[in-house]
Order: sequence, then structure tokens, then C-alpha cells
Amino acid sequence: MTLMLFIDTVRSYLSETEPIVSECRHCGTTVESGTEECPECGQAEIARYHIA
Ligand SMILES: [Zn+2]
Repeated sequence: MTLMLFIDTVRSYLSETEPIVSECRHCGTTVESGTEECPECGQAEIARYHIA
């Protein structure tokens, strides 16, 4: 039942994903939600957009 396991994995992944995109205001890099500092340029100005 590998397919069922795959579906469960995808479902749990989707349910844990917040409908928010976090993006650095300086360089535009998309970062994980909850990130306080851009890993690319080190700036702490992260813009958050709700996509739902
Ligand atoms: Zn940046």
C-alpha cells in the first residue's frame, strides 16, 4: 500500500503548510514562515502575504 502512504504524506504536508508567503523586502527571497532574518542578505525585514 505504498500509494496510500504517499497520499497520507502529502495530505499531512498540506495541512501543516500555512497559507502565508514570507518574502524578504530587500532581495525578494522567499523564506519559511516564522523566519525573522533573510538567509540571503541578512536583513530582518520580512514581508508576509496571506495567499488563501
Ligand atoms: Zn534578503
